[in-house]
Amino acid sequence: MGYEAYLRVSDIPVYLSCPKKLYFSYRGEKIEPEGEALLESIFYKELSFRLHEIEDFEEDVRSLFDELPVIYPEKIGKLDPPVLEAFRDRIISSCGRIKEAAGEVMAFYEKKGVCILETGRYVLSRRLLLSGSVDKVVRMKDGTVAPVSVRSGRAPSDGVWKGDRMRIAAYSILLGEELGDNLSIGLVEYIRKGIVREVKIRDYDRRRVLRVLRMMRRIKQGTIPDGAHTVECKNCPVRDECVVERSLLSRFF
Ligand code: SF4
Repeated sequence: MGYEAYLRVSDIPVYLSCPKKLYFSYRGEKIEPEGEALLESIFYKELSFRLHEIEDFEEDVRSLFDELPVIYPEKIGKLDPPVLEAFRDRIISSCGRIKEAAGEVMAFYEKKGVCILETGRYVLSRRLLLSGSVDKVVRMKDGTVAPVSVRSGRAPSDGVWKGDRMRIAAYSILLGEELGDNLSIGLVEYIRKGIVREVKIRDYDRRRVLRVLRMMRRIKQGTIPDGAHTVECKNCPVRDECVVERSLLSRFF
């Protein structure tokens, strides 16, 4: 089975936000964040990956910016240099606040006795035809292994966002399959806010992931789903295509 048959874990939150958006993505439309939004997610993920190596925070953040174009030549190379420069200046001027948040994340790991085993581990299941990249694989104090998802956005007041719960449940299935173990705990690191939340993965979550994967596969095979049509539509990168297709379909039905 070719790689194109595989679904990606990162598409699960897209499906949950709007199945129609995923449909457009499978048709080749670009739905990934761009400009500042893209830089935010890349920067915070890389910062998280090297948290335990940092010595001089501001100096290390500066060198991280030098390394970003090397690590992400495709994504960073397409950005206008002034966009990158403006983002860099904003981050450097907020270094105090970011350092504080990073310190809170580190304090959580230390207090809970969490040991980082790996960052950016690619996982894949031939059985489920599902693949993804787990941000971190950690060992909890009791010896159990857990996946970690690093998020650059805001954190909910309690628990984790639905898309993050599904993502971590999917990673636990994939990682568990590779390790031959049943993983029942995951972590979501809302690094910008210095918050780490523990997620207990239940049968319900795993069942829900499998159901979502079935729906995603149908869309990938050509089924046209309904759109979510929420307030999010005004910022949707495929809004124009969506409006055009709706008006075309309305002529036939
Ligand atoms: S415009 Fe709204 S309904 Fe259409 S794809 Fe985007 S989010 Fe979904």
